[in-house]
Amino acid sequence: MKGKILFLGTGASTGIPVIGCNCKVCRSKNKKNKRLRPSCLIKIKNKNLLIDVTPDFRSQALKYNIDHIDGVIITHMHYDHIGGIDDLRVFSLKDNKKILTLLEKATFEELKKRFDYLFKKKEKKTTLSAEFIFKKIEKEREKNIFSGIEIESILYFQKKTRVLGYKIGDLAYISDIKEYKKNIFHFLKDVNILILSALREDYSPVHFNLKEAITFAKKTKAKKIYFTHIAHEIDHNKISKKLPHNIFLAYDGQILEFNYEK
Ligand SMILES: [Zn+2]
Ligand SMILES: [Zn+2]
Repeated sequence: MKGKILFLGTGASTGIPVIGCNCKVCRSKNKKNKRLRPSCLIKIKNKNLLIDVTPDFRSQALKYNIDHIDGVIITHMHYDHIGGIDDLRVFSLKDNKKILTLLEKATFEELKKRFDYLFKKKEKKTTLSAEFIFKKIEKEREKNIFSGIEIESILYFQKKTRVLGYKIGDLAYISDIKEYKKNIFHFLKDVNILILSALREDYSPVHFNLKEAITFAKKTKAKKIYFTHIAHEIDHNKISKKLPHNIFLAYDGQILEFNYEK
């Protein structure tokens, strides 16, 4: 069976253009240099699974006509990955159902602090906030059947922040990675399509730069690697030419196909 993944956003935490920035990339007319905050929509077995809910989620949902969500998969607690969570309420109200959400236990605890009202007991008809069923991931590596789809997760770090990477069929989404254990390459051994974060050419203390991302990608057996979470220092056309033949810069609106044989 084939699944599809649609890039709803491929930008770093500020998005591109960056507010108030006059750099060449931010002023560029190339559509591939316009990047909303990082998120993907996975379409499989008629299910829509959302990876992260960015502060741009409303625009992304309107742009790509997302009319239902069967599950949300969250990588970690940073604003650029959860900031739009409130906007999911249209789906829980419209379909009158709780939104199934997969996330790491530390992300769950942080969400409770930042969006405390989402966790309070709802009074009938007087509240219009989203309702969720949270499925917490407790182990470093876990396999879950989520909304009928098998999803594997692996824990890694961005400084002290706990981040989850996910694998569905032969596709993996590994974003906001900086420190990791070597077993991640075992986790990725049967992955053909790897989506990986790569911020810019210069060093970053919390993200892979291009060089680090290329080195990591080459240690996997992935046939095709797509970089995401891209900052305004990267011009799509200029940098694309410099990449190895099987490594690409993803762009907003891009769709990829992957295999799911479960
Ligand atoms: Zn991020
Ligand atoms: Zn800029």
